[in-house]
Amino acid sequence: MSPSAEQWAAAVAAVRSAGPDDEVLLICHVNPDGDALGSMLGFALGLRRLGLTRIRATFPGDFTVPDPYAGLPGLDLLVPEADAWPDPDLVLIFDVASESRLGGLADRLSAPRSVVLDHHASNTGFGEVRLVDPRAAATSVVAEQLLARLGVPLDAEIAECLYVALATDTGSFKFDMTTVAVHELAARLIATGIRPGEISRRIFDSRPFGAMKLTGEVLGRAILDPAAAGGRGMVWTYATLSDLERFAQPPYVLDTLIDPVRSVAEADVSVVVKEIGAREWAVSLRSKGAVDVSGVAVSQGGGGHRLAAGFTGYGEVRDVVDAVRRRLDEFLN
Ligand code: AMP
Ligand code: MN
Ligand code: MN
Repeated sequence: MSPSAEQWAAAVAAVRSAGPDDEVLLICHVNPDGDALGSMLGFALGLRRLGLTRIRATFPGDFTVPDPYAGLPGLDLLVPEADAWPDPDLVLIFDVASESRLGGLADRLSAPRSVVLDHHASNTGFGEVRLVDPRAAATSVVAEQLLARLGVPLDAEIAECLYVALATDTGSFKFDMTTVAVHELAARLIATGIRPGEISRRIFDSRPFGAMKLTGEVLGRAILDPAAAGGRGMVWTYATLSDLERFAQPPYVLDTLIDPVRSVAEADVSVVVKEIGAREWAVSLRSKGAVDVSGVAVSQGGGGHRLAAGFTGYGEVRDVVDAVRRRLDEFLN
């Protein structure tokens, strides 16, 4: 269900209620991707245009902005979790499917006013005013609609942020969610003068040599299991912290590793298991259409969309992959 007229009105009222002296905190999910950062910073710039001055944007955990997003407009508003307003007057939350993705910032949900902008069908239902639209291709689609209702015109800075978000979550305008409305929004964003070619090269087609070598090694150990997922096939691989160390790469270089893996023709389901701590793994799941992987992710405490989801797994790699395989069999039988 898309947000109702009442929810849009409540969100507009919540933002309008903030005065120049009010502290406004914007939060996106841990290990932010292009949609999380782009929708949050684009909206933050919009708030600045509205005359708000005490704006801070943040995300929980390790304060690393992936290189592809290090040139985004609005980064001057971004602060580490420790510098986030402790008692904000208004909180806005972007691209966060569940409270667990807010880490140590989940307590800010008790702010006098909170607005959640998201597009995950699996969104768990936190926050006061909820703009959750599972039909939106990206959280930036929701953010742009709220900016329009607030009367904030698009400029090139806001547009670049929202475009990066839209391009990231549609896989460069390739996924099923790439509707007429998505292209119409992209057209309006490009009309502000931003450079799609240059932006795409920066966010999709540029990475360190070491990251390419690391990817090569991790892809080289992929395993194809044709019998998994009721015969629809599953392909999986994993990367450890020591892999990252060997190639001197930060964890975010593995964020796009799922893309070459999910291209394997013999498998509907693809899985990438990435070590994030002792016996702790960030698991990415994708399906080509036969399987609802968000169901698998939710059953493991995670979330996401029907064809792209994730969760945190524990134990050995084998344990994590076996759990996915079992869940897939359960869901398909
Ligand atoms: P990723 O595989 O990290 O690109 O994530 C794919 C989708 O699953 C995104 O929409 C994420 O928001 C969602 N997702 C990934 N990990 C989690 C998690 N631990 N909890 C909830 N949702 C997640
Ligand atoms: Mn995201
Ligand atoms: Mn998103």
